[in-house]
Amino acid sequence: MIGGQKVLGRHALVTGGGSGVGREIALALAQAGVDVTICGRRADVLDAVAAESSRIHGIAADITDEHAVSGLYEKAEAARGPFDIVIANAGAADSAPAHKVSLADWRRTLDVNLTGAFLTVKPALSSMAARKAGRIVFIASVAGLRGYAYVAPYVAAKHGVIGLMRALAAETVKTGVTVNAVCPGYVETDMLDRSVNNIVEKTGRSAEEARSILAAANPQNRFIQPDEVADTVLWLCGEKAGSITGQAISISGGETW
Ligand code: NAP
Repeated sequence: MIGGQKVLGRHALVTGGGSGVGREIALALAQAGVDVTICGRRADVLDAVAAESSRIHGIAADITDEHAVSGLYEKAEAARGPFDIVIANAGAADSAPAHKVSLADWRRTLDVNLTGAFLTVKPALSSMAARKAGRIVFIASVAGLRGYAYVAPYVAAKHGVIGLMRALAAETVKTGVTVNAVCPGYVETDMLDRSVNNIVEKTGRSAEEARSILAAANPQNRFIQPDEVADTVLWLCGEKAGSITGQAISISGGETW
């Protein structure tokens, strides 16, 4: 139950569930009574989260590898039934001025954030439509809603995720499946720590200065917490959110609207 409503489904997939936002979503879904399969490339990190709840099961898989994703679906669905909920959360960001981005860096960022998100949800689409129920949520970013300097591949990928979400919402609109995206500003996770370290390395500023520069992007002058993102995802997975589809919800203290 979440806010007095039931989460729609018994089995969820959360990619990148071993850390940060994904871990928080996995724990929240498990707390709501859902069995959760989490994936990521590091098995030890997945095991640590699985140890926190008997409802959480880790399967190591790289979401940019279609073969690995289909293996994950086979194994998880054989054990715990078809996925009713898919949260495409795994992602990564590097920063550099656009003229210094190599083709390899561009492809790596598009692969994990956009192609990986597509590969994550694709195997669930026909099965959810046949069962006339399902919840798909992409963890995009405010970088999917407006431009930011020095993260061109990430901004392009996250805009692509919003486009993918809208296309899938249009395709599934009469099937009982909903497809939405949440778009956080800076969230206090390992990804944020990496951005802080990057600023420290490249500008010589202190970590404290770097954190206050990043926090100031949010008009509330603070970082979003992972549980704020998880709460919105849980609401979207609730049985009363059936009319919400095709939406990109900004969780950013008013950084975008
Ligand atoms: P995080 O702690 O670094 O989590 C990213 C997760 O994605 C990790 O668990 C990582 O696990 C997994 N991952 C990365 N590449 C993968 C791959 N190829 N295959 C499978 N799993 C992969 O960062 P986070 O902040 O929680 O990020 C979660 C999502 O929120 C991302 O989509 C990010 O873009 C989005 N977001 C974050 C912020 C922020 O400020 N933190 C803001 C807006 C949006 P492995 O390394 O073990 O594979």
